[in-house]
Amino acid sequence: KNDSLTGSTNNKEKFLDGLVASGVDEPSCMSRHQSHLYRKASPHKPSWHLISKLRKYEEIHRRCGPNSKAYQKSMKEILHSKSIKSDSAKCKYLIWTPANGLGNQMISMAATFLYALLTDRVMLVRFGKDKQGLFCEPFLNSTWLLPENSPFWSDNHVETYESLVEKEKANNNSKLDLPSALFLNLQYQQNYHDKFFHCDDKQALLIKVPLLILQSDQYFVPSLFMTPLFNEELEKMLVEKDAVFHHLGRYLFHPSNSAWRLITKFYHQHLAKADEKIGLQIRVFNPSKTPQQAIMNLVLNCTLENKLLPNVIDMNISNSVYPSGINKTITKAVLVTSLYPEYGENLKMMYMNKSTVTGELIEVYQPSGEEKQKFNDNTHNMKALVDMYLLSLSDVLVTTSLSTFGYVAQGFGNLKPWLLYRLGGNKSHYPACEREFSMEPCYHYPPKNFCSGKAIHDFASSLIYMRQCKDYSSGVKMV
Ligand code: GDP
Repeated sequence: KNDSLTGSTNNKEKFLDGLVASGVDEPSCMSRHQSHLYRKASPHKPSWHLISKLRKYEEIHRRCGPNSKAYQKSMKEILHSKSIKSDSAKCKYLIWTPANGLGNQMISMAATFLYALLTDRVMLVRFGKDKQGLFCEPFLNSTWLLPENSPFWSDNHVETYESLVEKEKANNNSKLDLPSALFLNLQYQQNYHDKFFHCDDKQALLIKVPLLILQSDQYFVPSLFMTPLFNEELEKMLVEKDAVFHHLGRYLFHPSNSAWRLITKFYHQHLAKADEKIGLQIRVFNPSKTPQQAIMNLVLNCTLENKLLPNVIDMNISNSVYPSGINKTITKAVLVTSLYPEYGENLKMMYMNKSTVTGELIEVYQPSGEEKQKFNDNTHNMKALVDMYLLSLSDVLVTTSLSTFGYVAQGFGNLKPWLLYRLGGNKSHYPACEREFSMEPCYHYPPKNFCSGKAIHDFASSLIYMRQCKDYSSGVKMV
């Protein structure tokens, strides 16, 4: 046995093949050092270019991030000059602003971080009390939290991207006065207008603005891949186009020690000993219109038909189907996550004291059942993070169409889930679920036009690496 060899293999796994910088003290963020003990080593390796880009980013973040001299100086300049005199500002910033639930927030943070990497901006996050203590600091020896005393907690008096674009249009090629801070809303808005954020001329404008406040609940990574300006860099950084969130998400989001204790405690108590772990994510978007029984039927049709779970033996019919010759009982642990505790309870009842047609032993666990989505609630968010993380440790995953909560779990876990059909009302649907083709999150509201103004009718035929999402036909995802 070659100890030095096993040692280096372990270290490689521990630091996720170089994705995560070594040399951090372990007690401050246990999950960063221990996550490899809970999931299979990823077959997707980050490119050298991505690794070196991340290390360079960490340096910029240390140099320009909060608490640095450069931060104080740059912020003073940004605040006091209404418009930019030269475009040579040394430190540039990208402030991420949350919208919607935690899953939406995490996929949009990952996209925002990629944008920061591409444009050499320091990413800071507006985390209110609801997200305090959820994640470890991702950037060593610095912080990504927007300081409490920053004036950029508010968007008042900050020019918007739309108004800048209007100004540019009206300007007739004479020199444009660029603001030193700009609010860029990439969220879905009703009466949706294409923002042409994926076009070089818009990026050429944005690049000159030292501070951007970006609000989005979307995974807008495909937009970045559509931007010619970023093409070459992205090609080198992210070679496997279907593992973008897998890398960025595992780089950014390390559960804090308190989240990690909850995750690992639950894991050891209920999941560790099972031969197979099945994650069932049951998200109900419209509970008043969709009866629980209809959803339960959908879940059972999906899992039984695809043999993810076995049926129970109906004692009234016959015992003859009972499998013989099985000398080891296989135990499957089912992790149910849902806002509604009834789903876990129903499934548990179904298997309680009953034999299954395969002889497998089924155990059902549901860590939480919050009843409804709560906003600005730290404990609620902690439960959501624990659920997403535990789901990502499954061997087989079933998720709900359209749910970003499920996207995070599949991306962390390198899983192509079975996607439950989205029921509208008291109906059934065949097939109840379909297998996903890529673990990337779906970008629900991609650009509608090419930069020329011509409408994009079909992403797959005009853009390599992109396909229409299975769970949302106007959405697009990387493959
Ligand atoms: P999406 O709406 O399904 O795309 O996912 P989001 O995460 O953006 O928003 C849903 C929010 O509802 C979550 O962040 C949680 O706060 C809550 N939620 C929904 N499903 C679950 C669940 O299975 N477990 C827990 N703990 N919370 C959930």
